Amino acid sequence: MLFMKSTFIQTKQTLRPRITVAGSSATNMVIRAHHHPVPGGMVMGDQFFTTPGGKGANQAVTAARLGAAVTFLSRIGNDLFGRQAIQQLMEEGINTDFILSDQRLASGVAFVTVDADARSSMTIAPGANSAFSPEELLPAAAQIGQSDYLLLQMDIPEETVLQAAKIAAGRHVPVMLDPAPAYACSEELLQYVTVFTPNRAAASQLSGIAVTSMESAVEAAEIICRKGVKAVVMTLGEQGALALHGDQLHVIPPVPVEAVDTTAAGDVFNAALAVALAEQKNLREAAVFAAKAAAIAVTRWGAQAAAPYRREMEKKIF
Ligand code: ADP
Repeated sequence: MLFMKSTFIQTKQTLRPRITVAGSSATNMVIRAHHHPVPGGMVMGDQFFTTPGGKGANQAVTAARLGAAVTFLSRIGNDLFGRQAIQQLMEEGINTDFILSDQRLASGVAFVTVDADARSSMTIAPGANSAFSPEELLPAAAQIGQSDYLLLQMDIPEETVLQAAKIAAGRHVPVMLDPAPAYACSEELLQYVTVFTPNRAAASQLSGIAVTSMESAVEAAEIICRKGVKAVVMTLGEQGALALHGDQLHVIPPVPVEAVDTTAAGDVFNAALAVALAEQKNLREAAVFAAKAAAIAVTRWGAQAAAPYRREMEKKIF
């Protein structure tokens, strides 16, 4: 019955979704604090912890926990953090065969502050992530071609993101692109994107419309859709999300939860959206699934650590 439903983007039909993620890995060093420091200022925090992160790796782990067969394409330093990151990805059952080992640059690291309102701010040293070159994707071209979705973000070089998108599009694999953290991407790249997933800040920057309300969000989504992507699914933080495909608009209500840490909310949302679309859910159903997955994640600390498992998705959360 799963495949009888009307679908949004028809993917190759398999029971277990096959997701490939190309992107960053990082180790997050997190301090909980009442508020964020201002430039030149200092705040006293409370607890400190390290947790695996990086937008690409967060998406890969989420997709795996939600039941997909996941391949992660990345460039990671040959250091303690990098070896730990790969070990953790393997423990999640992710295919790490195509991960490149950088002998020169350090693995990605992020300093994160999470305030009393669950908002995070980050300073990132991308390290090996910044050296991931387009040519290095070529050995993984066949793997990308066998996927139901390719997930991309903008914290590896844009030419590498573009190459990955071209490989996928050339093999009729739909591409989901989250423009964070750069918030800018070329018109050329957008032509290869099936589902584009900006948050409010990215949508504001890309459309020139300040996204401050549902009306302005819809207006921004329409402008972005005209740039060449097939669908826009805009994440609206605690306000939920909206999905626009052609003349179909879906407003996805927020899931009321008590948020403690919103780090990686967007990454969890993207991965869950892709898993659901690959399972032949329609765009609205997939966005509802993604909003639930992200709502679970914001009730927990950490990035990958907060990603929900499939069994949790069946439960009522409020
Ligand atoms: P990003 O983390 O990329 O900035 P958002 O802040 O828009 O993205 O969050 C992504 C998604 O996570 C939202 O669309 C929403 O579904 C969910 N989310 C974020 N914050 C909350 C919250 N406080 N309560 C419930 N859901 C949330």
